[in-house]
Amino acid sequence: MANDCLFCRIVRKEIPATIVAEDAHCIAFRDIHAQAPVHVLVIPRAHVASLNEITDPAVVAQMYTLAAQVVKAENIADSGYRAVINTRDDGGQTVHHLHMHVLGGRRMAWPPG
Ligand code: AMP
Ligand code: ZN
Repeated sequence: MANDCLFCRIVRKEIPATIVAEDAHCIAFRDIHAQAPVHVLVIPRAHVASLNEITDPAVVAQMYTLAAQVVKAENIADSGYRAVINTRDDGGQTVHHLHMHVLGGRRMAWPPG
C-alpha cells in the first residue's frame, strides 16, 4: 500500500467514502463528482498504479466480479452501464491507483470526449 495514495487511504478508512460493496480483493464506493445517476469506482485493495502495472491478471477479474455485484445492487444491470478504466494522461487518469468507473442510470454518449 502507498501511504500517500488517496485510494489506499480510502481502503484503510482514513478518508471517508460511501462504500457500496466490498469483498476480499476490491472495494466499490461512490465517485465524489458523480457524472451519472450511478457512478461507482471499483478498486483493488492492493495498490496498483494503473492498468499498465498489473502483474497478476486475476486483479482485472476481481474488479469485474465486484462491478457485477454493484450493477445488480444499483439496478442498472438490465438498463445498461459503462465500465471504463482511464489509463495515464491521454486516458484521463488523475488518481494513480487503478480504478474502474461504473456509470449508469442515463444514456451514455459515444464516442467519449
Ligand atoms: P480518473 O480521472 O479516471 O483518475 O478518476 C478519478 C475519480 O476519482 C474522479 O472521477 C474523481 O471524481 C474521483 N475521486 C477523487 N477523489 C475522490 C474521493 N475522495 N472519493 C471518491 N471519489 C473521488
Ligand atoms: Zn493506492
